[in-house]
Amino acid sequence: MTPNTIKPVSDAVLASVAAFLEIEPQRVGRKSPRFAATPGFCAHCGKELDFFDFVTTAFESGEHSKEFMVRFLDSNLSMGRTLPVALTCSACHGQNQVTVSYYYDDKVCGR
Ligand SMILES: [Zn+2]
Repeated sequence: MTPNTIKPVSDAVLASVAAFLEIEPQRVGRKSPRFAATPGFCAHCGKELDFFDFVTTAFESGEHSKEFMVRFLDSNLSMGRTLPVALTCSACHGQNQVTVSYYYDDKVCGR
């Protein structure tokens, strides 16, 4: 998947992630994060799997601290990956084996 085919994270999801990381929404949005999960919906409750589920799964699994994620968002690094993830649904806490694609711009100025 190329970056442009991955859907930009919505403002509502950016706001949820910002509240979870305890930072301003603009700080989450500066890298214009894009996110896609396949399959795209929770197998247990039907919720659309989104960037918020990805961030909370990374935190709850011990993969990344909130501080680590904030440092990355504040950095000038771009990043894009496609990888298999056991994603925990933030609504029902059910596990979903999905393929996740994500992309962050390196542009952090002018937003
Ligand atoms: Zn669910």
